[in-house]
Amino acid sequence: MHGWSAEVERLAGDVLDYARDRVRLDPVPLDGPRSAAELETSAGQTITPGGIGGAAALRLFSEVLAPACISTDHPRNLSFIPCAPTELSMLFDLVVGASSIYGGSWLEGAGAVFAENQALRWIADLAGLPSGAGGVFVQGGTIANLSALVAARDAARRRAPGSSAPATAPELSSVGRPEGARPDPRWAIVVSPEAHSSLASAAGVMDVDRVVAEVGPDRRLTGEAVRRVVAEVESDGRHRVFAVVATAGTTNLGIVDDIASVADAASDLEIWLHVDGAYGAAALAAPSARGLFEGIERADSLCVDPHKWLFAPFDCAALLYRDPELARRAHTQHAGYLEVLQSGSDWNPSDYAIQLTRRARGLPFWFSLASYGTDRYAASVERTLEVARHAARSVSERPGFELVVWPDLSVVCFRRAGWTRQRYLEWSERLRLEEVAFVTPSTVDGETVGRFAVVNPTTTEADIDVILDTMTE
Ligand SMILES: *Cc1c(COP(=O)(O)O)cnc(C)c1O
Repeated sequence: MHGWSAEVERLAGDVLDYARDRVRLDPVPLDGPRSAAELETSAGQTITPGGIGGAAALRLFSEVLAPACISTDHPRNLSFIPCAPTELSMLFDLVVGASSIYGGSWLEGAGAVFAENQALRWIADLAGLPSGAGGVFVQGGTIANLSALVAARDAARRRAPGSSAPATAPELSSVGRPEGARPDPRWAIVVSPEAHSSLASAAGVMDVDRVVAEVGPDRRLTGEAVRRVVAEVESDGRHRVFAVVATAGTTNLGIVDDIASVADAASDLEIWLHVDGAYGAAALAAPSARGLFEGIERADSLCVDPHKWLFAPFDCAALLYRDPELARRAHTQHAGYLEVLQSGSDWNPSDYAIQLTRRARGLPFWFSLASYGTDRYAASVERTLEVARHAARSVSERPGFELVVWPDLSVVCFRRAGWTRQRYLEWSERLRLEEVAFVTPSTVDGETVGRFAVVNPTTTEADIDVILDTMTE
């Protein structure tokens, strides 16, 4: 198998041609899913003892499999949070794939880690985190949020009165329900009702309780609400809150919490402030939005997904800690064969999240950022904000349309008067099948609404209006 044969030589050309053509394609086809039965019919059994050969496998991919995957970089893909990687970031992903770099340790991947760390530093500087801040690129906001909260709980356990400060085995701490008269308090995190679903998942994985603070009509989490709910749940001694999560750009509506007041509360209550900026904190790069994030510089940890709004390919989430040492203590894996990595002061990315082996997944982002420069990143984020503001204006001006809230960032939710959920779903499906656009509805307070998430600088005002024009009575 291994070895550069004549067949590999031929396929190298074909694979690189395919990749170049896909990156160059403009417009990209929207494409869309097929049923498993259809794919079974078209693709058949691809795994065989003798192999079908690279040419056939590549043909299957390009003719059957790839068209059954929606192009997340299509300018009219405004569903969920799409992805709009730069040409250079996509091309460099090929280079990373070709380079067999182990990105988990400095010993093995120093050059890659050095470059990734400079890209992380750019984000840390945008947020105003201190010079000692640092972190790692992980798979996504989900793992970033979980990793940050695990570090936060570990720090709280070590500080907790009577804590035995376990060095390497936090599961041995006193939290949980040991036998005895009075159960230890349960660890808890505070979130807003608008916080991302991954935080419920993280709380479940960690077996901690998730306390939901109230928000006012503007849906922003405030320090006051955090103080109130912490006092309430800690009053009977059954909970101990160790972290609060502020969202810097909610996924559904793009709302940025009142981070400054939440930071005040966190510091008074001596709890960890995690800022979930997986989607929205990319707008730190945009001067017109920077003011929304006041207080973010006080985060103990912060995540931003370059695969969402910083033009990197999947999968790439930046996780930063104010004091990385706290994360290192929580996450470093220990084993005889790993000791060699832990002897010095080397920066080992694997020590800062739940992972060991890791792809140097920050490199495509680094390459693009280094090549184009940060000014063009700022301009591209601004461009998406402009188009989102156009969408908000266009919606406001159309009879029968109503904005849910004026967008802080680049997510725009709106109502179409008289439309039922069924109507939204049929409209969405029709647009997808006709390859006009991929726009899935969302739900706000139980009501189905239209939703655009604009993270692609090639999405234009005209794209928005073409889509809105299809929402006739
Ligand atoms: C998308 C998102 C996440 C989860 O990130 P993944 O990269 O999908 O794992 C977490 N928080 C917020 C606010 C998000 O928008």
